[in-house]
Amino acid sequence: MLQSVSILGATGSIGLSTLKVLEQHPEQYTVFALSAHSRIHELVQLCVRFHPQVVVVPEQHVDQLHQLLQHNQLTEIEILTEQDGLVAIAEHPQVDVVMAAIVGAAGLLSTLAAVRAGKRVLLANKEALVMSGELMLQAARDNHALLMPVDSEHNAIFQCLPHHYQQAAVRQPEHFGIAKILLTASGGPFLNHSLAQLEQVTPDQACKHPNWSMGRKISVDSASLMNKGLELIEACHLFSIPEHFVTVVIHPQSIIHSLVQYIDGSTLAQLGNPDMCTPIAHALAWPERIATQVDALDLFVHHHLDFCEPDLQRFPALRLAREAMKAGGTSTTILNAANEVAVDAFLNKKISFLKIPQIVEHTLNHVQNSPAESIAAILHSDQYARQVTSHYIQQLEH
Ligand code: NDP
Ligand code: MG
Repeated sequence: MLQSVSILGATGSIGLSTLKVLEQHPEQYTVFALSAHSRIHELVQLCVRFHPQVVVVPEQHVDQLHQLLQHNQLTEIEILTEQDGLVAIAEHPQVDVVMAAIVGAAGLLSTLAAVRAGKRVLLANKEALVMSGELMLQAARDNHALLMPVDSEHNAIFQCLPHHYQQAAVRQPEHFGIAKILLTASGGPFLNHSLAQLEQVTPDQACKHPNWSMGRKISVDSASLMNKGLELIEACHLFSIPEHFVTVVIHPQSIIHSLVQYIDGSTLAQLGNPDMCTPIAHALAWPERIATQVDALDLFVHHHLDFCEPDLQRFPALRLAREAMKAGGTSTTILNAANEVAVDAFLNKKISFLKIPQIVEHTLNHVQNSPAESIAAILHSDQYARQVTSHYIQQLEH
């Protein structure tokens, strides 16, 4: 049956990879809605290619979008705006699948709306889960939503888990003989930089990832290892495991996307060329498989794979994320909010790269952890943490 798809964050790296996969399977998938935030010309190009019924943009871009759509004889496309528009395309009754690919906390409400509407939700927007944690999983259980991990590591872990565990509403790892999750990390572009070298790195250098081509925010997170910290939190929630179940392994080639160890001594891994079309296709079609244009892995080419432990002295963000996960409550929301503000300041050349984890730690020490009992409580912590972080950055600038 033809599945109707909404893409939250269609103009981004994950959004475009999703469209590439959908385009290959027109008999199985049709695009219902696309959202963009600033890249309006790119959105119009996508409308020409995919003819969505609805598009969502910020209010300020409506006039421009309207004119461009008219110019391309696409007047039948409905334009919605802001968070309400994003929520509407996430929960629309005609929609079967929602790709949650907005970057950062801005994607929380629409991702949650898709979960509450019981959709198949392809989760790329890890920040939404880092913030809402158990609330999002409970909403998925209550509404029979299928929360499919798109993050390559989590998708790999999912693929290495027993079928019954994948399908269980409540997951208890010890009942399935799961002993450990090995979460792989490329280590980013600065893996072998000294602290002195790290002090000097620029945003453009941070955004040049050795293996993956991604949006700027996640590229900086990969370089600081905060991305791995967010992924550790994401894994704990998605797979119902405590943080000490997760070991981070640096694997610079990004060929093994993560592993699951069992109590009988078995270790299962998922391997593939680093291309997000693979986890996206898997999350779309599971438990079936659909083809992508990703080349099959050639082990004679990739005959040498390396592994090492992360260095928490040079990359303290990973330690901060683990501590936040251990602390629970709104700690992970505070960590995420502080990181988003600090990464933005780094990308705008207001602070140096090494200041990012220092700022996050400062915010964690100055904003009180509270129970993450409601989305309102989480949003409150998020806003307050952003204020504290911005204020601290202003102080650092003077
Ligand atoms: P990009 O920056 O490439 O894309 C982000 C998308 O979100 C764009 O469509 C952008 O619109 C939109 N957007 C940005 N800000 C807002 C906002 N305030 N409100 C609404 N929409 C907004 O990011 P990526 O595609 O790289 O990443 C998306 C998510 O997926 C992130 O959470 C990331 O961590 C996760 N992810 C990404 C991976 C990757 O390989 N890229 C891998 C694993 C996870 P516009 O472009 O029009 O401004
Ligand atoms: Mg990842």
